[in-house]
Amino acid sequence: SPAIGILALQGAYEAHARTLAALAIPTRLIRTPDQLFTSDGRTPSRIPSGTPAGTPAIDGLIIPGGESTTMLKFLERNGFLDSLASFVRTVPTFGTCAGAILLANDVQNPPQISLGALDITIERNAYGRQLDSTILTAPTKLPGGPLEMVFIRAPRITRTGPQVETLATRDDYPVLVRQGHLLAATFHPELGHDPRVHQLFLDLVQNHLSVSSLKA
Ligand code: GLN
Repeated sequence: SPAIGILALQGAYEAHARTLAALAIPTRLIRTPDQLFTSDGRTPSRIPSGTPAGTPAIDGLIIPGGESTTMLKFLERNGFLDSLASFVRTVPTFGTCAGAILLANDVQNPPQISLGALDITIERNAYGRQLDSTILTAPTKLPGGPLEMVFIRAPRITRTGPQVETLATRDDYPVLVRQGHLLAATFHPELGHDPRVHQLFLDLVQNHLSVSSLKA
């Protein structure tokens, strides 16, 4: 099975690990930048500047929900943010809630630095106090009927770029989006009882692996 990492600096990473364990997928908790890449003996001269010397050590990564500002504080140490930014450029990554905020290339309310990988504008804590946490069941583009979606102090995706496909919405705003090898949800599929969104990510990882092996 593919090697899936879960960024485990803060937030709901254990719940993602449990969801994947239920799908018989083992996971690795990622806490340091060197866990993202393995050294593969390439000479530094062949590596574009800013690229860590190595190939990805995992086939996919989940960036969990939590508090994006707190995660950024950890990521700003040891070049972790730079490593993660180059990692998510090519390796399938699934960001939920705070993870979606980190993947976005434009963060508002307030503006905040990010990995700049996913072509969306995202507004933090967009639902106000009364509505800030809620559970909805709504149809999506995923097969298998309506999906339960758990929102906790959720952000709102207010713009999607041309490469971004919307797979589910809430009040006409995207809540589940895909752009190539990247998947993002403003809700918490790891807290529901429905593994379909994780399965979608695993399919994306598998697909990426087969395409990469054809290129090799
Ligand atoms: N409000 C959080 C943030 O801005 C995200 C909430 C969540 O991940 N459940 O980072």
